[in-house]
Amino acid sequence: MRVAVFNTKPYDRQFLDAANDEHGHELVYLEPLLSPDTACLTSGFPAVCLFVNDTADAKTLDILASHGTKLIALRCAGFNNVDLKRAAEIGIRVVRVPAYSPYSVAEFAVGLLLTLNRKIHKAYNRVREGNFALDGLAGFDLHDRTIGVIGTGKIGLIFAEIMKGFGCKILGYDLYPNPKFAEMGGRYIELPELLSGSDVISLHCPLTPETRHLINRKAIAQMKPGAILINTSRGALVDTEAVIEGLKSRQIGALGLDVYEQEADLFFADLSNQIIQDDVFERLLMFPNVIVTGHQAFFTEDALKNIAETTLSNITALEQKHSCANEVQADQQVANIKA
Ligand code: NAD
Repeated sequence: MRVAVFNTKPYDRQFLDAANDEHGHELVYLEPLLSPDTACLTSGFPAVCLFVNDTADAKTLDILASHGTKLIALRCAGFNNVDLKRAAEIGIRVVRVPAYSPYSVAEFAVGLLLTLNRKIHKAYNRVREGNFALDGLAGFDLHDRTIGVIGTGKIGLIFAEIMKGFGCKILGYDLYPNPKFAEMGGRYIELPELLSGSDVISLHCPLTPETRHLINRKAIAQMKPGAILINTSRGALVDTEAVIEGLKSRQIGALGLDVYEQEADLFFADLSNQIIQDDVFERLLMFPNVIVTGHQAFFTEDALKNIAETTLSNITALEQKHSCANEVQADQQVANIKA
């Protein structure tokens, strides 16, 4: 099948080309993000392949349909950037990669937590400058601390298991409890109790209308003073301005973000010679107790290989008129059914 692959980097091409030996699709790599302005590039492509920050809203989908596009293959798990209802109405099918390596993201979340707690980012810079003083680098033992996991699906469960291995107590909040979470010793409680009872809170639920700004002023006020917040899920789960206020008042002890609400304007590009115009983002970077990474939690060789193989298999399955277990149904977005 002829596929317009949007928003590609050299590493995407490397892994997609290797996986395509088995499938023989005609992959045309495009650098821009898909948006209403770039949708004209899809002319002549029955399939388009997208990543997290491409926009497939109703306007864009209508342009795709007018070009004969019948399939959107997401190279990611989340599908919050696709208007699934509109896609179904105009006959565009959507497939995704539900689990390419939950370990990659869970392990990265642990990395952010360890770095923030033990100030490894500061120590790295100090030692390079010949400063071996320890002042200001004290953290706390994670052993026996309480970790709150919001969203206990594939990634949240692995994160919880790793933290269990550190000797932590694990609390969980999820609309759809996962029996494996309780089996490994996690305890489900309501969100306000999780917020007030956790020393560390890590977000692993999808972005939906219900979870947008889940961490807002009210939620921050309910947190244990000085709690560490980690978000490797989706930027808009967090109200960034409220979090900045929480950091200034020290209600939030430290913040690790791999995702940011306005990341589409920034991430996955080298902007090192530009003046970044997003003042909220720049304010975040000024805090010594904040680490921001550019949506790299998924970025392991294992994950890239799985993403490429699953994406092309999804396309092949639909091309050959097979059903595909990774197809996303319109009601998954509306009813927030567990994916
Ligand atoms: P999953 O579907 O296996 O688990 C998500 C869990 O969240 C489920 O248990 C679900 O019941 C729960 N949930 C749904 N709505 C909820 C709500 N309102 N409140 C609380 N819990 C709710 O998904 P996953 O594979 O574990 O991925 C989790 C998220 O991680 C994805 O949605 C995606 O946004 C993000 N992600 C980020 C990266 C990255 O590189 N940073 C990579 C992959 C995935």
